[in-house]
Amino acid sequence: MTRARMPRPHEVDAARRDPRLLRALREQTFDEAWRTRGACQSVDPETFFPAPSEPADAAVALCRTCDVQGSCLAWALTVGDCHGVWGGTTPRERRAMLVAWRGQGQPDPDAVDDPGPPVRDRLLTLVPLS
Ligand code: SF4
Repeated sequence: MTRARMPRPHEVDAARRDPRLLRALREQTFDEAWRTRGACQSVDPETFFPAPSEPADAAVALCRTCDVQGSCLAWALTVGDCHGVWGGTTPRERRAMLVAWRGQGQPDPDAVDDPGPPVRDRLLTLVPLS
């Protein structure tokens, strides 16, 4: 088993501007009902957990059609899950996103009454105006 390497700074910078991460910030929710609306509901779960040497293209393509892609990715980043395809991202892509995501001071998912800073403020932090 090989250990995953830490993402490089340029990978984290790219992750901060990735439209999938920005969508996750907009669509994150503490209501896990999104799980019942996933496009993967009737697909073999193995599709979303390919071996490291296998392509994840089929799963990523299905995620692109999914209405809850943002919520799904936000969940994976919140729990720090780096296995399988979530929200249209591979584990390698998510490792870089995770560094960016955690750098924003994510709210405690159990603290429903304290959802953290307004999403707009956090988006501006990720994509500074210049
Ligand atoms: S984004 Fe992908 S993994 Fe997440 S619920 Fe949708 S199809 Fe399933």
